[in-house]
Amino acid sequence: MELRMPAELASGYRSRSQQARVVTEAWGRRELFCANCESRFLEPTPNNSQAVDLVCPRCAALFQLKAKGSRIGRIIDDGAYTAMLAAVREDRTPNLVLMRYDWPAWSVVDLVLIPHFAFPESAIVRRKPLAPTARRAGWVGCNIDLNHIAPEAQIPVVTASKPSPPAQVRARYNRLKPLREIKAIHRGWTLDVLNILRHLGRPEFTNEEVYAFDRALEALHPGNRHIRPKIRQQLQILRDSGLLLHIGNGRWSLV
Ligand SMILES: [Zn+2]
Repeated sequence: MELRMPAELASGYRSRSQQARVVTEAWGRRELFCANCESRFLEPTPNNSQAVDLVCPRCAALFQLKAKGSRIGRIIDDGAYTAMLAAVREDRTPNLVLMRYDWPAWSVVDLVLIPHFAFPESAIVRRKPLAPTARRAGWVGCNIDLNHIAPEAQIPVVTASKPSPPAQVRARYNRLKPLREIKAIHRGWTLDVLNILRHLGRPEFTNEEVYAFDRALEALHPGNRHIRPKIRQQLQILRDSGLLLHIGNGRWSLV
């Protein structure tokens, strides 16, 4: 993977955001590969308007590239809140590719891939409506909170200017694919529990240790009064998905 982007394309544009768009899109077309199949390149979609949208010519997987010249933080700006929430519920979100590039060198520093099936509703945070004085007064956008996305679903493609081998990226993506088979409306629960397990920071744990998060899960899923049975059910789903092992007697181990 060549990390230097085609900086010469920037010269035709005055605004930094237009320059970034043109340069990162051209780079994405040239260097990004599909994580869902063996395709070595992606193509631009016909109507990519706001973000850079790419599609795999072989398996039709969609990718959205979001690039910026600063560190990839915990909070990612996204589009309209209701549209994003509907996309999550209807399983229409693209794979998200987050890029940090160096400017003015125009080279890729960090790149993280989040599979399209790894977004729980809890990661979509409503922003305050735009002020009455704004051009789009009342419009409600959203942020994506990466703290609500399980660490293993934040797949490193480039880290500190060092690319990961494509085979490794595909292997990590493939390992998560069983989650894709869970219906989108149920998947949020599974992803939230997986995220909690990852934040326990231990390879082994008990039911009780996960129950300690019942309040947090209740806050994410208001209206569900049977939190503990739900947690046990999700642990079983994660086991069936190959992400967890049941050792016995309410003890579990991460795979
Ligand atoms: Zn593909």
